[in-house]
Amino acid sequence: MSRKPTAPGSRRDMDLRQWLGHLETTDRLAVTKTGRKLAFEIAGLANRHDGSRALVAPAPDGHAGGVVISGLLSRREWMAEALGVEPGTLLSAFEEAAQSPLPVNEVKTAPCQEVVHKHDIDLTAMLPIPTHNEHDSGAYITAGLMICRNPRTGIQNVAIHRLQVSGPRELGALLLPRHTLSFFTTAEEAGDDLEVAIVIGASPACLLASQAIVPMDFDELTVAGALGGAPLDVVRGISVDLFVPAQSEIVIEGRCRANLRRPEGPFGEFPQYYGERADRHVIEVSCVTTRQKPLFHTIVGGGLEHLILGGIPREATILKALQDMFSCVRDVHLAPGGTCRYHLYVKIKARHAGEAKNVLLGAFAAHYDIKHAIVVDEDVDIHDPEMVEWAVATRFQADRDLVVISGSQGSKLDPSSDNGFGAKMGLDATVPLDAPEFRFKRIRVPGEQELDLDAVIDPDAKLASLLGS
Ligand code: MN
Repeated sequence: MSRKPTAPGSRRDMDLRQWLGHLETTDRLAVTKTGRKLAFEIAGLANRHDGSRALVAPAPDGHAGGVVISGLLSRREWMAEALGVEPGTLLSAFEEAAQSPLPVNEVKTAPCQEVVHKHDIDLTAMLPIPTHNEHDSGAYITAGLMICRNPRTGIQNVAIHRLQVSGPRELGALLLPRHTLSFFTTAEEAGDDLEVAIVIGASPACLLASQAIVPMDFDELTVAGALGGAPLDVVRGISVDLFVPAQSEIVIEGRCRANLRRPEGPFGEFPQYYGERADRHVIEVSCVTTRQKPLFHTIVGGGLEHLILGGIPREATILKALQDMFSCVRDVHLAPGGTCRYHLYVKIKARHAGEAKNVLLGAFAAHYDIKHAIVVDEDVDIHDPEMVEWAVATRFQADRDLVVISGSQGSKLDPSSDNGFGAKMGLDATVPLDAPEFRFKRIRVPGEQELDLDAVIDPDAKLASLLGS
C-alpha cells in the first residue's frame, strides 16, 4: 500500500477531503447528478455502491449548496489506506494507538467554524439530512460523533449515537448504556443538562477512534491523534465548553436535556432490522458551525461502512484480550456476514489438545456481542468466509467439536434473542493434534502460483482452427 511521504511532525493519515480526493484519483468515487432525493434515493445509491465506490451527491433536493457523502470507508483495506498502514497491521496499529494516545492540540481558529449559526436554527433547512430505510421515523444524523464531558472529571468522550431530527432545533438520541449515558446520568441527577457537540464530516482516524473500546475517562480524540502520529487539532465550541476536531465539516452544539424524554425511532440498524420506537433522550441545539461549503457525511444503517467502522476496533480489542490469555492466537476477524459483531473467526497455532475450546470460551468472555465463534488453524484465511466454511466442512464434528452455552448475555439488537438473552455456539474447526499427518494434507499443484499466465496463454487462439474446422 503506497502512502505519501510526510514531513516530521505532520500527520500520517489522510483527512476527510484528502481521502475523498484519493478515492477520486483511484476511480473509487461515484458522483451523482444534482437534485437526488434525500428521502431513500441517496441511501439507495449508497447501498448500490457499497464496498466498491464512495458516493458524492451534490445539491440534493432543496439544498442548492449542500453535498452528501457516504460509503467512504466501506472496506477494511480502505481504512488501512486512509490511515497509512498495511491492512495486515491495521489491528496492531489501532491497538498501539489506543495504548499510546496523544493529547489534543488546541487551535484558536478552525475550518469547522468558518460559518456560525446561533439564531434561526432549522436543521433540515440548513443541512441535507437524508432519510434512509423504509420504516425509519424520518431524517437521521448517522455519522455524528457526539462529544461530551464527564461532569465529575472534565474528561471528554466521543461516541456515535443515532440522532433523529425531531424538530427545527431538536434531536432525539439513542444513548445505550455506555460512557455518554453515564455522564448524562451524572448531570441529570444534579438537575443539569449535559453539553454535547455533534461532529459531522470527521476524518477517517476520528471516525475509527470514536469506536475504540477504551475505559471511561479515556478521550477517544487522543486515539485519533495517535492513529495519525501527531496530536489532533481541536477548537473550543462557540456555545459549549467542549473541544471538537478543527478540520471537521459541521458541528452541532447543544444540550442533552435533563428530565426530558420524547419518542425516537424506529430506525434501521446494523443487524439489518429496525430498532424500535421508544421515549428517549432529547438534545436541544444551541449553535451550528460549518465550513463555507460543508460535506454532510451519512452512514446508511446496515451498510458495510456501518459494519466495518464498528468491526475494526472490536477486532483489535478482542485480539488483544485473547492474546493476553492464549499465546496460540494469531489473528481474529468479525465477519461482515455476522454484522461485524456476532460472528468471530479466530486463527490459532494449536500446540495442546483442547486449546481451541479454551479459546472459544475466552472469545465469549471477550465481548458479549459474540454469539458464534469458529476457531481455525493457521492455514485458513479468516478474511475469506468460504475458507472458514471449508474448515468447518472438513475439520469439524458436531458431537466432538461443538460448544453450546445457553442462557447467556448477547446483543439486544439480535431479534432471535430475548432482548439479548440467548445462546452462544463455538465450533472447533482445527485439525486434531493427534490426527495422522496425511489425512489432513491439503492438496496442492506444484508450481501453480509461479506460472506466468501472460507468457503461456495465447489471447488470439481460435477454437475453430484448433479443431480443424
Ligand atoms: Mn468512551
